[in-house]
Amino acid sequence: MSMGYKLTRIAPTPSGYLHLGNVFSFAITAALARRCGAEVLLRIDDLDRGRVQREYVEDIFETLRFMGIPWDRGPLSFDEFERGWSQVYRMPLYLSALSRLREAGAVFGCSCSRAEVLRASRDGGYPGTCVARGVELDAAEVSWRVRTRPGDPAAADLGDPARAAMGPEVLRVKTFPEGSVEARLPVEMRDFAVRKRDGLPAYQLSSVVDDLHYGVDLIVRGEDLWASTLAQLYLSYPLDAGAFRDVRFYHHPLLTSGGEKLSKSAGATSIQYLRRQGMSAAEIYGLIAQEVAGDGGAGGPAGAGGAALADVRDWEGLAALVLGVGR
Ligand SMILES: [Zn+2]
Repeated sequence: MSMGYKLTRIAPTPSGYLHLGNVFSFAITAALARRCGAEVLLRIDDLDRGRVQREYVEDIFETLRFMGIPWDRGPLSFDEFERGWSQVYRMPLYLSALSRLREAGAVFGCSCSRAEVLRASRDGGYPGTCVARGVELDAAEVSWRVRTRPGDPAAADLGDPARAAMGPEVLRVKTFPEGSVEARLPVEMRDFAVRKRDGLPAYQLSSVVDDLHYGVDLIVRGEDLWASTLAQLYLSYPLDAGAFRDVRFYHHPLLTSGGEKLSKSAGATSIQYLRRQGMSAAEIYGLIAQEVAGDGGAGGPAGAGGAALADVRDWEGLAALVLGVGR
């Protein structure tokens, strides 16, 4: 395994109780961090204060401890989180990044509602309604979108001639443990938003800014965030954040259940619920392992060479199903 990484992170959003899919992802993150000599930062994404509830923040600490998943940096309690780790404290960083995008001419104002975008879109992406409308960026109820269209002069090379040669929407993702993949910004990320209509930074922006701020050099996340990875790499150009392009990414398979992605809306999969049913952490790990083994995606051949299913009783055993055994 490659060494020399400094920091990775687990980054839950406290808008619901942690579920089996979260634990699966955190287990893989913690295991990769240990194998690479990296520390784990607990970053709680609470910018959307309207959806954040104290009980969900507390659930993050409780569940990580119950499941035995370690972290090295970040808050240890709700109080510590509120005193120094909330994203609210990093608002000046987000605002400064937004100013930079504005000064670079990399964004345009968009006054479309979500429903309007859906109605006008032919392919699931932003239809370009406001690209040339000159919507005032400081007006109320206006989101900021990054110019990503081929042919848009602002998107052409973003100051990097090598990039212009690749084509503006082709991005290179450094993959873990080595190598890289070139991919295009997907349709769903066309002119993606960096500031929401309520004026708050959007996830793509705050995530990049936070990772740069803490010096994250290894990002472990589910395959469902592949499009976000590309959007965030795209942002690194107008943000002049070359360091972000050196980050290694590991996109793990998703835990599925009967073809359905486990989600927070499925309350029965929350760890809190399973605990109340009397399950131990070891039993919950066994349950997740069953999901992994019973699913062609997460339990694929790469994982089959790993630990025996019956032995999975902790996060390291679970991660070995996906990563293979090896220290
Ligand atoms: Zn618009």
